[in-house]
Amino acid sequence: MSTSTRPKLAVWKFASCDGCQLTLLDCEDELLAVAERVELAYFLEASRATVEGPYDLSLVEGSITTAHDLTRVQEVRRVSKRVVTIGACATAGGIQGLRNFADVSEYTSVVYAHPEYISTLDRSTPIGEHIRVDFELRGCPIDKGQLLEVISAFLHDRVPEVPPHSVCLECKMRGTVCVMVARGTPCLGPVTHAGCGALCPGYQRGCYGCFGPMESPNTEGLEIGLRSAGMTDDALVRVYRTFNANAEAFRAESERHEQETSR
Ligand code: SF4
Ligand code: SF4
Repeated sequence: MSTSTRPKLAVWKFASCDGCQLTLLDCEDELLAVAERVELAYFLEASRATVEGPYDLSLVEGSITTAHDLTRVQEVRRVSKRVVTIGACATAGGIQGLRNFADVSEYTSVVYAHPEYISTLDRSTPIGEHIRVDFELRGCPIDKGQLLEVISAFLHDRVPEVPPHSVCLECKMRGTVCVMVARGTPCLGPVTHAGCGALCPGYQRGCYGCFGPMESPNTEGLEIGLRSAGMTDDALVRVYRTFNANAEAFRAESERHEQETSR
């Protein structure tokens, strides 16, 4: 039994690649400071030693893809004072959300030698579809600075300061020349939530939308720029169906272009 008086932090994994949990371990210099403020009570990626709940803050990575996950996530909510979902899997269903546009049994029959052993739901869904979530932190993977801000905010009972603007503003702040304007490279930056620091445009590549839709994304407005950069309806479907394929605005846009291709 733990005798610590520090708030208890738990980190839970559902269907995911572990990349977002690794972001916490990747905090390196800051990790010791975090460990001084909170008790890492349940974090199997870091330690097999666990402390029983209830927990003050739970970080949840991954999407819901099995019936067992559905039961387990209810238990996470029950033992947690605050729940923060981390990453595209947990906030939008992740890349495994591509199954939502297809027949999952067709996928399993192609991928597995014995698909009869696979027990899975037809859809990959975000955590927020099943339990009450106190905050959603976006990204694939999440940004370590934003993660530290969210942990700090919840420890001090305040709202996290995570700006809702687009990647374009991050480009301007770092002085990066716009790849769409200067090079005709397709870029999802105008409709994508900030957080990565405009990493890809900084390397003369277009944004892939890892952080999902920004607040009020004007996807129809961006279509003009993407088409003049040479994108067809097929390409537009694909560009919106990556890490955040199931996020409402990106899903709707990809379905709109899919309908165009089938006309
Ligand atoms: S959001 Fe991306 S980095 Fe995070 S767990 Fe899912 S696939 Fe991995
Ligand atoms: S490169 Fe992309 S993200 Fe950056 S300003 Fe241009 S459109 Fe926006």
